[in-house]
Amino acid sequence: MPTYGYKCQNKECKFKFEAMQSIKADALTVCPKCGKELKRIYYPSNFRFGISKIKNQ
Ligand SMILES: [Zn+2]
Repeated sequence: MPTYGYKCQNKECKFKFEAMQSIKADALTVCPKCGKELKRIYYPSNFRFGISKIKNQ
């Protein structure tokens, strides 16, 4: 399962966290701290790791 990074767009919050989510899962859009908009950040290395695990099955 890939790990997605999220960063809050609220300049006074800037909360960053990572979430393990299925590729099919909807992206989180609301900051759990302040309730404002989140931006999803992709981590290419983790994404590739997820792909290789699928191929090994
Ligand atoms: Zn926030």
